Amino acid sequence: MGGGDHRYRAPDYDTLVDSPIVVGNPAVYDFDVDGKKHSLVDVGEGGVFDGARAAKDLEAVVKEDRRLWGSLPYDRYVFFNMITESGGGLEHKNSTVLMTNRWATRTRRAYLAWLQLASHEYFHAWNIKRLRPAELGPFDYENENITRSLWIAEGFTDYYADLQVARAGLQTRDEYLEDLSNTIELLQTTRELEQQLDQLLHQGHGHRVRARREDSQGDRRREIARRRDARRVSEILGAEVLHTRAVPRRRRGGGWHQPQSVLGVRGRRRLGT
Ligand SMILES: [Zn+2]
Repeated sequence: MGGGDHRYRAPDYDTLVDSPIVVGNPAVYDFDVDGKKHSLVDVGEGGVFDGARAAKDLEAVVKEDRRLWGSLPYDRYVFFNMITESGGGLEHKNSTVLMTNRWATRTRRAYLAWLQLASHEYFHAWNIKRLRPAELGPFDYENENITRSLWIAEGFTDYYADLQVARAGLQTRDEYLEDLSNTIELLQTTRELEQQLDQLLHQGHGHRVRARREDSQGDRRREIARRRDARRVSEILGAEVLHTRAVPRRRRGGGWHQPQSVLGVRGRRRLGT
């Protein structure tokens, strides 16, 4: 939205607060997918973080998500990568802000974790920024926005974040399955998660992840644990759906072929690389 050199105009307040602004001299790596410009904007590479490689691999993730969803829902997308020796990320409608450390491209484990973080936030361009619980936009800026749907909004996003990195050929099938195996093992040895899954599969959408209100009461650890639970439930749901598809008599009402059927997406039905 240009209003002249170094002048920018947002069409409304929601767009303004959803548009992060970086001022400085970052390293910028552009690539096009579907004729749409994407940029990786690295702040603080420090001669260590490999931006060119990261942009090339992000392009593969973008293409994989484009294949899954059928189209790209924006005109331009920016990955703001703040190399601040920190971690985490936040989704926006047409961009994301990631935080990482400069060594993230130096070891395979760290790099995969960075790719999965970027993949997660990018997946939110669909699942949460456009397909979202009613409570999560337009936001009520005066009050807390509480939702009971994080298990879909975050859980499904986490599930696809990793799967899309593997599908893009950036993680081997064995590495992906090893991660999945660890997740399943954790589920099988954690009673509470078993109950959640049972509830989800047998009572459908009656499954409840406790409301966000608790977050504001300060128990950050509980929020993280819940997010992890939601992700595991999604992963197991994905496996269950694939299994259900393989056993036709267990299909209900036409059946779910893959979690993306739940999301209303017609995607390719394949797992792994
Ligand atoms: Zn998220």
